[in-house]
Amino acid sequence: MNHNKRGKIYYSMQAISLLPILLFGILILAFGTVSFTKTMTQEVFEHLDTSAHLLISLIDSNYPGDYILERKEHNNQPLYSLYKGDTDITEQFHIVDHFKEDTGMDVTLFYKDTRILTTILDWDNQRIIGTAAPEHIISEVQKDNEVQFYDNALINGQKYFSCYHPLTNSDGTVVGMLFVGKPIEEIKNRINSSLNPIIIVGLISMIISGIISFSYAKNFINTLHRIKSFFNKTATGNLNVKIDSKIINRNDEFSEIANAALFMQKSLRNMVELDGLTNLLNRRTGEQKLRSTYLSSKDSETPFSIVLADIDYFKSINDTYGHHNGDIVLQNISVFLKNHTYHKGYAIRWGGEEFMLVFENHTLEETLTCLKQLQTELREFVHTIEENEIYVTMTFGVACDATLKMEELIELADNKLYEGKAAGRDCIIS
Ligand code: GH3
Ligand code: MG
Ligand code: MG
Repeated sequence: MNHNKRGKIYYSMQAISLLPILLFGILILAFGTVSFTKTMTQEVFEHLDTSAHLLISLIDSNYPGDYILERKEHNNQPLYSLYKGDTDITEQFHIVDHFKEDTGMDVTLFYKDTRILTTILDWDNQRIIGTAAPEHIISEVQKDNEVQFYDNALINGQKYFSCYHPLTNSDGTVVGMLFVGKPIEEIKNRINSSLNPIIIVGLISMIISGIISFSYAKNFINTLHRIKSFFNKTATGNLNVKIDSKIINRNDEFSEIANAALFMQKSLRNMVELDGLTNLLNRRTGEQKLRSTYLSSKDSETPFSIVLADIDYFKSINDTYGHHNGDIVLQNISVFLKNHTYHKGYAIRWGGEEFMLVFENHTLEETLTCLKQLQTELREFVHTIEENEIYVTMTFGVACDATLKMEELIELADNKLYEGKAAGRDCIIS
């Protein structure tokens, strides 16, 4: 089974972590770009408007008076001249040229719909004087007598951000208009060069936040997978499987789950491995442990002994004080045996009131020394039952023989135990 298979939560987590950043980022960038472009455009229009105002005031102060178109005859051809007050401004290109030099803006002065003075050149580098403005502009500016802005006015094949101001004479009649504009490309380049760093920083921040939340989500899922794998192994009977210490050290909900899982594993192990009454190893686990002691002592050629120990006349304790008090005596004896095998080996509840003690790395002599000490202390061990002081003895059958099979060794200890019982009990037989 593949424990790291990506499930629904994996994809949900990735979506939860990445989608908001993506949506938020795209919205912010889109909204930012639109509003920035709008603001910049507005600013350009305001600038064009102010500049047009300025130029009109400049013309008015330099050439006071009304705009008047005069028709003359030249070689039998009609010739038109535009006057501003007393001055013929038809050829006064310096008015618009100086303005363009100072501001970088193109300018055209229209009389009615016709270009008179302009900075805009055609393909042959000739000023496009005499040409007409589009009709809708004439109508919107001159008929309505209103300032107009266009963000894509097409002039001589080029698109302009433009501002058109009506020109009026002293009696209020509209006689023409003044165009002030900048090529759209120039404005777009300016907007883009200001906008690009913002977009790049925005995108980089989105990518970095994406990577950070992606790795958080991945870490979250990996932890979940490790906990799942722990449960899977425990469920199939592996009660010794360990949980990654990194999870335990997280100090969050995951470490709480992991600790609860470990606690559950320990409880399960105790239930399966320990005897319910005495808390000693039960016979099944004891036999497994004895087998591994047997095999490892064979491998390392170190001696070990087994002892079958049975409480003497236990039935009479039950008969006299009741089964419950018999249980208490069994529990006392178990703690006593556990303490006496501590760091030497282990004790198993072999069945009923019979126990097996295993002395690892112990020769027969060493085992007998331990047992004599144990026997002496047991004789002095007081069990207080219903204000009665009871003393209990045990009979011990010892087996220590590296040549025997495990089953033969157990049988030998059992035989020795029965020899002891037959010999009058409270004795150690080897
Ligand atoms: P001996 O010295 O020959 O071993 O005599 P004994 O009375 O100890 O042996 P016997 O086999 O006659 O009786 C063992 C008694 O142990 C019988 C049984 O009811 C009791 N016993 C076994 N398991 C438990 C237990 O878990 N709790 C209690 N209270 N008694 C138990
Ligand atoms: Mg007995
Ligand atoms: Mg018995």
